[in-house]
Amino acid sequence: MIYQFTREETASTTDDVKKTLQTKNMLVTGGAGFIGSWICTILANLGTHIYCIDNLSTGLTENIAHLHGARNFHFENLDIDSSDPPKIRVDGILHLASRASPEDYQREPVETLLTNSVGTRNMLELARKNDAFFFYSSTSEVYGDPSIIPTPETYWGNVNPIGPRSCYDEGKRFGEALCMAYQRKYGLDIRITRIFNTYGPRLREDGAYARVTSRFIRQALTGQNITIYGDGKQTRSFCYITDTVTAILKTITNKKAKGQVINIGNPHETTILQLAQKIRQLTRSQSKIVYKPLPQDDPKRRCPDISKAKQLLNWQPTTSLQQGLEKTIEWLRSRLGKQF
Ligand code: UDP
Repeated sequence: MIYQFTREETASTTDDVKKTLQTKNMLVTGGAGFIGSWICTILANLGTHIYCIDNLSTGLTENIAHLHGARNFHFENLDIDSSDPPKIRVDGILHLASRASPEDYQREPVETLLTNSVGTRNMLELARKNDAFFFYSSTSEVYGDPSIIPTPETYWGNVNPIGPRSCYDEGKRFGEALCMAYQRKYGLDIRITRIFNTYGPRLREDGAYARVTSRFIRQALTGQNITIYGDGKQTRSFCYITDTVTAILKTITNKKAKGQVINIGNPHETTILQLAQKIRQLTRSQSKIVYKPLPQDDPKRRCPDISKAKQLLNWQPTTSLQQGLEKTIEWLRSRLGKQF
């Protein structure tokens, strides 16, 4: 059966984006992950030929199950750190492969560093051989615990280089530096986005893979305690997945993004306690809010300055936290079964 795309999955593509991408061959690393699977789905719908690779360390085959059978979609279970790069011809590489959940990457610190260093190098070499553009999904974590809020791209960061989060923070900082080195030395067309907290359907909600939004929604729907780390006064700014994907597509299709590093996120800042209360209210949950110790080096505030994305890409998020949470709750409710 041919998969029917939902309106959400196709809404983020303008005619310009469509025209540029529909004839291209694209490699997506981490294509079975949260953001990667959304990108594969939208590109597949445009007609782009997609070569999706993922070692399934955190990605799930169910995220791309609806694409199997499509003539323009090819999946391979491949580890970018250790395997030979695939022998394919591509016009562009979207490099999204990496663990991203703090509780998960801290369990696998060596792998996290290697994916963003050795893995990124392997993919940059492939881009060089193919004369392809290279998109690197970096993160707000390169800013560590920032002293400037909202944080612009010009801020250099406040990262503990030997702390428990350093495998991710420094891995991504190295990845960015390597991309810039390939641009300077080989003239590679590189585009980097620093992605702030993103949420929505397909964000894992289980165990150490869970991020705060999906974990709280699951706890609220199943009547478990909602676990706030610390006093809940730390902040994050949550961007709905279709807004993030729209920004990524604009980044890879807009010439002005060449050689640039761009913050992608929603500038609406909220405390973790406010998030818990909102989710409790939207799910009409009776779950108790409980407090647990704050993990070491947990950033106190995080909020993007998106002036550059607005100016370069003519992009800003359009989905409010309430709208995005409602859609995510609906998705998780049906995933968990009708009893909740
Ligand atoms: N957090 C929390 N309870 C949880 C999981 C996370 O209070 O069960 C907090 C975490 O300490 C952090 C924020 O929520 O301050 C966001 O955590 P997440 O794991 O989503 O990713 P981060 O933004 O830290 O990379």
